[in-house]
Amino acid sequence: MKKDDCIFCKIANGEIPSASPYENEEFKVILDVAPANRGHALILPKEHFDNVFEIEPETAGRIFAFATKLAKAIKEETGCDGMNLLQNNGEVAGQTVNHFHLHLVPRFKGDAVTMTWKQGEADAEDNVKLAENIAKRL
Ligand SMILES: [Zn+2]
Repeated sequence: MKKDDCIFCKIANGEIPSASPYENEEFKVILDVAPANRGHALILPKEHFDNVFEIEPETAGRIFAFATKLAKAIKEETGCDGMNLLQNNGEVAGQTVNHFHLHLVPRFKGDAVTMTWKQGEADAEDNVKLAENIAKRL
């Protein structure tokens, strides 16, 4: 199902043009118009899902499976030294368009892209409890 006011629905379904190296009936790959680095690509499902909490697992699986192929193609084409796969969910997590999308960000030695955080220190006992509680929800 598409959402009328969603820009990624319009791009994924061809209502807004984009530079796209690949699409199938389920998703479309576009090159980001505001890339972190040259070759920064997004994979957008054609159906609207706000985020990882809503997307069908099978669709997400096919998107991530295709990302392995796309990553190799981008690496070969751009000569990047590495790549980040990034998928943000919710405003607090840096999601700026509420339509599920997977970023592939080519990385070059010495580039200005940052994706770091200060490492915390886990409470080992709490981690065990937390793991048990999460397990009950799976
Ligand atoms: Zn959408």
